[in-house]
Amino acid sequence: MKRNRRIKILATLGPSSNTEEMIEKLSNAGADAFRINMSHTSHEMLAELYNAIRNVEAKINHPIGILVDLQGPKLRVDMFKNGKEELKIGQTFKLDDNPEAGDNSRVYLPHPEILISVEVGHKLLLDDGRIMLEATHVENNVITTKVLNNCVISNRKGVSLPDTMLPVSAITPKDEADLEAALKLDIDYIAVSFVQRASDVDEVQAIVGGKAKVVAKIEKPAAVAAIDEIIAASDVIMVARGDLGVELPIQQLPGIQKLLTRKSRTAGVPVIVATQMLESMIESPMPTRAEVSDVATAVYEGADAVMLSAESAAGDYPIEAVQMMSDIAHEAEEDPHYKEIIYAHNTEAESTSADAISAAVYAVAATLNLSAIVCYTESGATAARVSRERPQNRILTLTPKATTARNLTLTWGVHSVVVEDAATESQMVEFACLTAYNHELATFGDHIVITAGVPYGRPGTTNMLRIAAVGKNGKCAD
Ligand code: PGA
Ligand code: MN
Repeated sequence: MKRNRRIKILATLGPSSNTEEMIEKLSNAGADAFRINMSHTSHEMLAELYNAIRNVEAKINHPIGILVDLQGPKLRVDMFKNGKEELKIGQTFKLDDNPEAGDNSRVYLPHPEILISVEVGHKLLLDDGRIMLEATHVENNVITTKVLNNCVISNRKGVSLPDTMLPVSAITPKDEADLEAALKLDIDYIAVSFVQRASDVDEVQAIVGGKAKVVAKIEKPAAVAAIDEIIAASDVIMVARGDLGVELPIQQLPGIQKLLTRKSRTAGVPVIVATQMLESMIESPMPTRAEVSDVATAVYEGADAVMLSAESAAGDYPIEAVQMMSDIAHEAEEDPHYKEIIYAHNTEAESTSADAISAAVYAVAATLNLSAIVCYTESGATAARVSRERPQNRILTLTPKATTARNLTLTWGVHSVVVEDAATESQMVEFACLTAYNHELATFGDHIVITAGVPYGRPGTTNMLRIAAVGKNGKCAD
């Protein structure tokens, strides 16, 4: 299960891949973690998928991350008398608090908080941006708008409000129930949709209480504006290009992706690039040239992970899509220009002992051209800081905790192995040599650098750096 690439692959499960057999095939093809989208998954299905993934994990003997994605406050208009209406450019159209079915002049918007938050001049984008309205008057829970393009509006279409700061939390009652169901299982990541501010993430962190890593999906302009505070509050960032491309002019996406990947990398917070990466592979066994280039761009930006959505969840070629993503990543990482491009993004370490050790480890490994950096870690924090440096050497994380190994499945370059607790420093070094050897990250005659906290077993005390030689059959040679 050793990967030939550093960037991780997050594959969304769905009708095309919801079985244990498919999960195993996708893992073998390169999926490091799976996303379960609660917009389309019942609690029974969630538990089934959880069990299936954990079964595969045991079978392949390699940690697999499980990310549960909460739907968030997805806003929708209500129903129309005729199911749909044609709107003409320039006409007036109202959204109001009258629950009667809509017609060509109005529709019910069952979100009272929005009716009072929209201001004159704000845009309302419906149906993924296909319908554009602009507020011209707001009074008595009625938003009067001018229609900006000829379009068809129909039942329960989604509404995006790029200009409006919504007085809603990122957690709806459905999300609360889904979160509770997810936390009953031993899942690894919770993704929060439509985050607007850092307090949205804080709210979820408070409920999760450290039982999972919290992923902030950046898909609103307000979140881009507050990105520093959101990164500080989050464990992982997702560049959610789907909704972001609706809420902002789509041509701004590449620049925003660069901004978010850089800022996250600087902070040492893993960053996932998501949506439409291999979109055409939903129906075709081959991607377009543009898609290949898009995946490679995320690799060159040094993103921690790339995501597949419908490609693996509902497409005709889920395995091929994972394999293709993996091949593109491998090729980009082998490119002689890759190093110089990702290092151009590297930033100063922080003045903490963990970072000082990580920076030292990185320097030792690079200078001596060692085959692997071995992090002995309880919490995974050391491995995360080492990964932040994007070393060329393999990063092997040894941990007694399965949870820690799973929580690193979206972290760049980290290969995790669950090992027994080491009692002494020399045992730790032995385990390191043997595991690096057995997992083919080092071979006879290679040197590795090991970092750990001494005394062992106290989280957050990484302070040891040791160089060891790998002997015959993975025994320590010194
Ligand atoms: P979604 O999030 O697939 O849950 O909408 C990702 C995105 O918007 O890009
Ligand atoms: Mn989204």
